[in-house]
Amino acid sequence: MDQAIDQIKEFHWLMDMIQTIEVGLVVLDADFNVRVWNSFMESHSGIDALNLRDENIFEHFPDLPETWLRHKVNTVFTLKTRSFMTWEQRPYLFRFRNDRPITGTESVMFQNITISPLVSVDGSVSHVVIMVYDVTSIATNRKALEHANDELAVLSRTDSLTQLNNRGHWEERLVEEFSRIKRYCETSSVVMFDIDHFKNVNDTYGHPAGDEVIRTVSGLLRESLRESDVAGRYGGEEFGIILTNTDAEAAFVFCERLRGRIEASCVLHEGREINITVSFGVSEFKHDTEDHQAWIEQADQALYAAKESGRNQTWVHAKV
Ligand code: GH3
Ligand code: MG
Ligand code: MG
Repeated sequence: MDQAIDQIKEFHWLMDMIQTIEVGLVVLDADFNVRVWNSFMESHSGIDALNLRDENIFEHFPDLPETWLRHKVNTVFTLKTRSFMTWEQRPYLFRFRNDRPITGTESVMFQNITISPLVSVDGSVSHVVIMVYDVTSIATNRKALEHANDELAVLSRTDSLTQLNNRGHWEERLVEEFSRIKRYCETSSVVMFDIDHFKNVNDTYGHPAGDEVIRTVSGLLRESLRESDVAGRYGGEEFGIILTNTDAEAAFVFCERLRGRIEASCVLHEGREINITVSFGVSEFKHDTEDHQAWIEQADQALYAAKESGRNQTWVHAKV
């Protein structure tokens, strides 16, 4: 008698625990009829356990991924082992609203799910229990962290004045391009260009005007690029471009077109018009080029020749 009372007491606090626990508990039979639906599930779904009892779960939740869930549950029945799914594999099983959304966070509850077999004393499995864990705060924190990391990564490779690649990242891309074309025997060109008499711009119009000129040139450069080209700010008013799959002749045409656009443009600064020109040096990849640094060096030599010959022109490093 005492033992029976103890068992009933135990059963009561077990039921209490199932009801108050901050985890969703759903017991299903082999036909996917609901046998237990705890208060976590009631409050998040808005559906009372009484209305679901012995009802087919898919009829009440048409949004459930039926094929997927049937497969998972059937596997648990067959193998009699637990199955675990994280929010990273599938953000949620039951589409519940996130109760505690703070500004900018997700409005859906992210869930980790376990499906366990309920094994009877005779060893048979007639039911499974699905546990639903609310992991929204973990998921949103992780997402915020990933987003912040992505932004930091972009910032660390971007030049703040021009939004072009900074020198470090541009050189990294050039190293990659160098090994790519060496391996596949392709052709690409490096272009270095520099604003002519830029000191005069600063001296005549002031440093902020000089910055505006650098931004304008960067904008015209960006508009001229193809998806596969890579431009960077190499120094103060010196820029580098990797023109992929482009030989020296095509690179020359590219430079002359950009040179013309820069020459024709006009920067307005505090009511004054500033006109500038640029000089270009081109170097097509040659198979005896030692490394990416030597490649830049050749383009720089051509740029130097362009400057020496009067500026506002494009020179190509001689192919030998
Ligand atoms: P050249 O035609 O031979 O290139 O003459 P230059 O006057 O353009 O050449 P130089 O490289 O001697 O001068 C570049 C100047 O650019 C020196 C520096 O004060 C200025 N400069 C470098 N970075 C910036 C910047 O971010 N903003 C501004 N406004 N000026 C800069
Ligand atoms: Mg200059
Ligand atoms: Mg310079």
